[in-house]
Amino acid sequence: MASLITCPHCGTRPKEEFSVRGAVIARPSASEKDEAWHRYVYVRDNPKGRYQEYWHHAAGCRRWLVVNRDNLTHEVFGVTDAQASREGSR
Ligand SMILES: [Zn+2]
Repeated sequence: MASLITCPHCGTRPKEEFSVRGAVIARPSASEKDEAWHRYVYVRDNPKGRYQEYWHHAAGCRRWLVVNRDNLTHEVFGVTDAQASREGSR
């Protein structure tokens, strides 16, 4: 069975059109200490289960998306545009 992702711009597409680019984590401010930047760049919690990742629709609209999924079962709970997601959290 093909794994499908529903892009908010392009509709339901095969996952091969996307690049998974890592967990959604808060970016430190420019004035944060080196330790905060080290953690942001290199340290990951690597949780098992449901969490959010950045996906890039490389073979489609080329937008950055936030995919909320279970990394154990690959069940997808929701896909939003990353910019809209960021603006919604402000
Ligand atoms: Zn798309």
